[in-house]
Amino acid sequence: VVSYFSGGPAKIPNEVLEQVSRDVLQYGNTGVGVLEISHRSPAFLAILDNAITTIKELLDVPPNYRVAFFTGGGNGQFSAVPLNLMNRTGKADYIVTGTWSKSAAIEAAKYGTVQHVLPEGSTFMGVPDVSTWKLDPDAAYLYYCDNETIQGVEFATRPVPPEGVPLVCDMSSNICSRPVDISKFGLIFAGAQKNIGCAGVTLVIIREDLLDAPRSPHCPVILDYAVITNKNSNYNTPPVYAIHVLGETVSWVKRQGGIEEMKNRSDAKSKLLYSTIDSSQGFYVNEVKTENRSRMNVVFTVGAGEDRNKDLEAKFVEEAGKENLKALKGHRDVGGMRASIFNAVGIEHVRKLVVFMDKFRNENSE
Ligand code: PLP
Repeated sequence: VVSYFSGGPAKIPNEVLEQVSRDVLQYGNTGVGVLEISHRSPAFLAILDNAITTIKELLDVPPNYRVAFFTGGGNGQFSAVPLNLMNRTGKADYIVTGTWSKSAAIEAAKYGTVQHVLPEGSTFMGVPDVSTWKLDPDAAYLYYCDNETIQGVEFATRPVPPEGVPLVCDMSSNICSRPVDISKFGLIFAGAQKNIGCAGVTLVIIREDLLDAPRSPHCPVILDYAVITNKNSNYNTPPVYAIHVLGETVSWVKRQGGIEEMKNRSDAKSKLLYSTIDSSQGFYVNEVKTENRSRMNVVFTVGAGEDRNKDLEAKFVEEAGKENLKALKGHRDVGGMRASIFNAVGIEHVRKLVVFMDKFRNENSE
């Protein structure tokens, strides 16, 4: 059995994989496979409805919010957010805590003024204290990334924008892993390929009044929140299969006990890893501020600073791979190791990993 710790595309629950692979050959009583059904057919409309309804139920989405599906991934939303929402005042506040919020800020700067909330030179080792933030009451929105997948930095609590400024959040890598009060947000988006399905579809939850925001005249129609939402995510040919996988994955989350259960599991899995790191007497190191340590992506190095040992890191990844502990290499931007423990990764895999970590440390400590 392979234990798979990929940062994305990531593990999908086996039960879901079995179902959706059967559906490729024969979907219900349609006589064809799910890849082949028309996006206007009753069968697909039911898939769409199941996905949207299950998301609403799981995340307790208030009635004045709409759920929609987009293509273009998380990066597509880096453009869609400013194209749809920035024109109200021409400027937006960005909280940059890692690679993905940084990319979003760079993209948004093409369409208006991006204002950085955090002090210059902030390192990506946690969320700086709120007393150091600069928030503009005239910003068109306040943007942040709830979980930085590469740096392993997660917000402990939601940022509070000035009165009247919508809060926009990238939840690509921690959606459905803890309860969220949707009513506090203007918009949430999440690429599906980590916690809620496969690549090809991006979930958007948007407060209804923002569909009337003055969008850029250059906003492409397929990124237009009002168009796609008002067409029930069926404006052009949507990614039928990816939406089906998403629907089946969130239905699985529901059967497992819902978001509370996912939170408990994520807490247990991440605690096991961080306690193994912290009790390794400096052999393994995670330098993220304790309260911002990600429950989804646990990054670690062998040693730190001058004592960091990249040769041992390479050896770790190689030997772990031989024991079927796969995809533990850190993102190419930061190196080291990263164990991504999204919802579909069971705690039994994390247990195997910590046993390996202890063994590797015993064999390679001086
Ligand atoms: N946002 C976060 C938090 C991510 O982890 C990623 C990808 O890993 C992205 C955005 C970019 O998503 P995509 O590759 O779908 O454009």
